[in-house]
Amino acid sequence: MMIVMRGGVSDQQVQEVVEKLHSIGAEAHVSRGEFKTIIGAIGDREKISEIPFAALEGVEAVIPVMKPYKLVSREFHPEGTVVDVGGVELGGETFVVIAGPCAVESEEQVLAAAKAAKKAGAHLLRGGAFKPRSSPYSFQGMGEQGLELLTLASRETGLPVVTEVVDVRHVELVNAHADMLQIGARNMQNFLLLREVGLQHKPVMLKRGLSSTIEELLMAAEYIIRGGNSNVVLCERGIRTFETATRNTLDLSAVPLVKEASHLPIVVDPSHATGMREPIPALTRGALAVGADGVMIEIHPDPKAALCDGPQSLEFEEFERLMDELRAVASPLGRRL
Ligand code: PEP
Ligand code: MN
Repeated sequence: MMIVMRGGVSDQQVQEVVEKLHSIGAEAHVSRGEFKTIIGAIGDREKISEIPFAALEGVEAVIPVMKPYKLVSREFHPEGTVVDVGGVELGGETFVVIAGPCAVESEEQVLAAAKAAKKAGAHLLRGGAFKPRSSPYSFQGMGEQGLELLTLASRETGLPVVTEVVDVRHVELVNAHADMLQIGARNMQNFLLLREVGLQHKPVMLKRGLSSTIEELLMAAEYIIRGGNSNVVLCERGIRTFETATRNTLDLSAVPLVKEASHLPIVVDPSHATGMREPIPALTRGALAVGADGVMIEIHPDPKAALCDGPQSLEFEEFERLMDELRAVASPLGRRL
């Protein structure tokens, strides 16, 4: 249930609604927008509906929410959320480009990639220190040492860092090094991990699961926000389909659908969606055109020698060209880089 308060409502009137909800053991999530204040009521539906909220002063409307997600819904929060990642705003006018290697492999490699990302105009640096690999025999990442190298690369370039956390036991450690915590596709429904990052204040990038519906993605985000952390950015990274020409199938239709259903920013990851470098520039322009808030792209100083995801990693020159092309199409679409 959503309780929509009139414009110019007083704190006391909001508090009255909140207290009524608490008195029946329900949660109240207050969202103050520029024009409206909306209170999301979560708890026993029947008990909530018995309270005559419409009769309270300051209440404009009482709206039942039919969707299974509430806090992530645009009904609850009509204005788009802007997530601040170390001073970079995701969800605003800027089309945010996140670039970096799949995995941190060495000081030399991550510094080279960070400098190339910065030079080309990327806003955030990515790089995995803990890698969720399909095979236990594949490179699993440098762990804590990798996180330290990311911090070094961030200091050298000024780029804030996005890196994945795969285990609830690592949340504190990764939190100490990252500006944004990434939850990977394979962990999208690791509910304990979602709860744990929900207790942090750090922004979270939640990637869509390999076989997850848009609704499941939004429900996973609901776990994080319900824990108290509303700094969530979603990521469309391709889903499993019958098509084998690409590693996954990039579902660009998820972008406008998510934008309609939710106030959360969404970025597109064409690298993991396709598993190949060739279509990445075109899909990046596509992501911009369908209204995504940014992209995440893998780059590597020597893709042939990469320990992880070499075939989809762009060489630095390719990335620079992509950024030049992107700049040319951004402004007619009302976006900037
Ligand atoms: C990644 O971005 O490093 C990654 C492993 O991607 P995904 O979780 O989407 O497979
Ligand atoms: Mn990768």
